[in-house]
Amino acid sequence: MNFKKEKTYVMIKPDGVRKSLIGDIIARFEQRDLKIVALEMFMPTTKQIDDHYPKDEAWIARLGQKTLSTYEKYGVDANKELGTDNDLEIGKMVRAWLVDYMTSAPLVRMVVEGIHAVDMVRKICGVTIPNFADMGTIRGDYSSDSPAVANSEKRAVMNLVHASETPQEAKHEIKHWFGDREAIFEYERFAD
Ligand code: ADP
Repeated sequence: MNFKKEKTYVMIKPDGVRKSLIGDIIARFEQRDLKIVALEMFMPTTKQIDDHYPKDEAWIARLGQKTLSTYEKYGVDANKELGTDNDLEIGKMVRAWLVDYMTSAPLVRMVVEGIHAVDMVRKICGVTIPNFADMGTIRGDYSSDSPAVANSEKRAVMNLVHASETPQEAKHEIKHWFGDREAIFEYERFAD
């Protein structure tokens, strides 16, 4: 395994594109020595997004749990707000909002390569919920969204960027979004 050449999949989400943050987001990866080896703006289909996010119940329930834990923290009654306090039911709603959100504007897809790229990119992005993301991260610097606000507006949390969570997921997502096209480049930077 060559850790220096680890690859990860990154997607700038509709809010990142519509807030004119494409350049800034890419710059944050490059300034941390990561290398962009594939890059493209495109409009996703609903099916592509639906296939991108996992469909297993454990993953869907985890989405619901994120809503429930912020509701608990801020004293919101899930039953009153969403008509249920079941994590799987809430997760299903959130997943549908996520598909709407991700197909609402063009996205930018890229493959980023470098030392421990998967973990490094996740660190640069910050945690999922911008409200909790540290300053200095992409999500912490440019968004303050929270599930409590998003779900009351019947939408997903807008957090600017998607990044693979594990090397296995990265491999799967790179294949899903770039297929076998020769869109992933090998080149030497001057610094190399
Ligand atoms: P990440 O994108 O950080 O890997 P997840 O895979 O858990 O996070 O969730 C996928 C996306 O779903 C998040 O990036 C966010 O846009 C949205 N999301 C997650 N949990 C919620 C929630 N409880 N309510 C609304 N949107 C959510």
